[in-house]
Amino acid sequence: MSMEINPNMLVRGTAADGQVMFFSLDSTQLVEEARRKHNLSPLSTVVLGRLLTAAALAGQELKGDKDVLTMILKGSGPAGTVLVTANSKSQVKGYIDNTNLETKSREDGHFDVAWAVGPEEGTLTVIRDLGLREPYVGRVELISGEIAEDIAYYYAVSQQTPSVVSLGVLIDTDGSVKHAGGFMLQVLPNTPEETIAALEQLVGGFPPVTFLLEEGFSAAELMDLLLNRLGFEITTQTAAEYHCDCSKDRMERKLMTIGRADLQSIVDDDQEQVELVCNFCNTAYSFTKDEIREMIK
Ligand SMILES: [Zn+2]
Repeated sequence: MSMEINPNMLVRGTAADGQVMFFSLDSTQLVEEARRKHNLSPLSTVVLGRLLTAAALAGQELKGDKDVLTMILKGSGPAGTVLVTANSKSQVKGYIDNTNLETKSREDGHFDVAWAVGPEEGTLTVIRDLGLREPYVGRVELISGEIAEDIAYYYAVSQQTPSVVSLGVLIDTDGSVKHAGGFMLQVLPNTPEETIAALEQLVGGFPPVTFLLEEGFSAAELMDLLLNRLGFEITTQTAAEYHCDCSKDRMERKLMTIGRADLQSIVDDDQEQVELVCNFCNTAYSFTKDEIREMIK
């Protein structure tokens, strides 16, 4: 590999003579950032962290400056709604309704993400806003609730793209994020059966991402380990980060959407000011009654 490996880089490239596209990311820092901003419990961190990692990977298809990909996971479990967005600069943000999920483990010791999400009657909605008049909206039922399988299912059904998705978040004993990461492979149309079979075999025997990150592998080295037998090449690297672009202006526009009557009731209320908190980063913005009177005008 000619490119220098940066641990926070999202790497993308191709394998098997361009028939397979791959995206791989060590998302430890950005998931830890999400955990701190939202003060998440361990299981809440794992659920949101997996979806944030998936959005960063899937967001690699975005090209325009204003393109945004949104993933909304809505199951019947205690996690509630989990929403994440990614842009073409590999900036992600998100939130989970239940920031304080209790720890529940499966028999194998892993966090029980499917329990938290609740695949029964659940959906994964993916909105791709590419700056056109209408965004593309695709929705699938949840098939597992473990998130990676659900996202692969979305690509198979909604995009007709056979995909492999692997996601993992490992929590340290102090509750912080020890490792997080994931990869996504997409098989291009007209790929020969033998390539797909070889890929399935490689993926089938591949260890969990967090295990390999724990062993010291970088995102690029993960792909080397998985795909070197097929021949692979890294084409680009981008720094991925947790980034919220909220501002008082944006909050003001949001506040104005509630309508004149509701704004008036705020002014008539006893409180001296109202506070709006950003869903994505918990920054609080306060507005005085004078500012709200100005908005009503
Ligand atoms: Zn924010």
